[in-house]
Amino acid sequence: TFLLRKIYSTTLYRSCSSFAKMMQAVCVDVPGGPENLVLRSIPRPTPKDGEVLIKVHTAALNRADLLQRKGFYPPPAGESDIIGLEVAGTVDTLGQRLKGNWKPDDRVMALLGGGGYAEYVSVREELLMPVPNNLTFCQAAAIPEAWLTAFQLLVFIAQVKEGEVVLVHAGASGVGTAAIQLVRLFGAVPIVTAGSQEKLQVAEKLGAAAGYNYKEESFVQGVCDFTGGKGVNVILDCIGGCNWEKNVNSLAVDGRWVLYGTMGGRALEGDLLGKLLSKRGHLLCSLLRSRSLEYKADLVKAFADRALPCFSAQPATLRPVIDSTFKLGEIAEAHRHMEANRNIGKIVITVTP
Ligand code: NAP
Repeated sequence: TFLLRKIYSTTLYRSCSSFAKMMQAVCVDVPGGPENLVLRSIPRPTPKDGEVLIKVHTAALNRADLLQRKGFYPPPAGESDIIGLEVAGTVDTLGQRLKGNWKPDDRVMALLGGGGYAEYVSVREELLMPVPNNLTFCQAAAIPEAWLTAFQLLVFIAQVKEGEVVLVHAGASGVGTAAIQLVRLFGAVPIVTAGSQEKLQVAEKLGAAAGYNYKEESFVQGVCDFTGGKGVNVILDCIGGCNWEKNVNSLAVDGRWVLYGTMGGRALEGDLLGKLLSKRGHLLCSLLRSRSLEYKADLVKAFADRALPCFSAQPATLRPVIDSTFKLGEIAEAHRHMEANRNIGKIVITVTP
């Protein structure tokens, strides 16, 4: 199927390329390792009704990109099959029937269903946000996917309340670094797990009240000590399988355990339901990419109202955490960096200077 798609798309691109405007984009013809990410010239998208074409200055990596590259996370129907879930750049061309007041050259950032690893991407206007004046394009690209995910999990799913204790796994990840700061913004108390002292120190600087190196100690005892035996009210869990028993043991009565990733496996064996029932625990699962446009539009609006101004407050109460930047042509190296769990915060790709 992949070869047929490649032949079809190559033929299509050749027949288009004599008149279409072209752009550089990262393509994956055959799923596999980082070496399968290929920079190529392909036709630029044209904005449909309700869409805006963005000239991409920066894009950012997400863990899901690694899965998509390997062929395990295909884009939802109708989305670009180019990898990339978030970008920042300037408005290039306006589609028809726009409701907003977007103008060419406006600085924008966007949540995408795909298409970010390219010089241009077309996006529904509801998924655009203005870039706060004080932020660079590098900082802006680090916001949409990670911060909207963390915001969605805390506000829409867990409905976190002031004073609650929230355990954030992978505290130094893109989502984790956003979640710690948002938990503080909402008047709750973040505690984290991470795989090194360096990562725990960064999490602490961002606001984590305690941190546990899961490679050296069980976080269950730490959580018990921190909460005086009560357990945490909320767990943001992107690890899944290998941690299930530790999570349920760390949960407070009536606590919410929010599963949004399975980096630590999917299968489990044991008395999960019995233990969860005895805690009256809520297991809540969420994915952002497959949500409807209406849901994402509500999320973008809620985030833009409640969190976005905090990035430009004096002093700023929220800040994107950038681990490193790579050029678009170095995308394979960027994927290797993430795959090795070396990043603290976001990996940003500079697409056009
Ligand atoms: P990231 O920046 O690449 O960070 C991931 C970190 O997780 C790694 O650096 C590593 O840090 C830790 N990790 C990896 N494997 C682990 C394991 N087996 N056990 C414990 N820790 C492990 O990731 P991201 O892009 O922010 O994404 C974080 C998670 O959120 C991913 O699972 C992603 O799929 C999920 N996500 C879900 C949604 C959704 O809508 N459901 C949206 C966005 C992201 P350590 O050194 O600390 O181990």
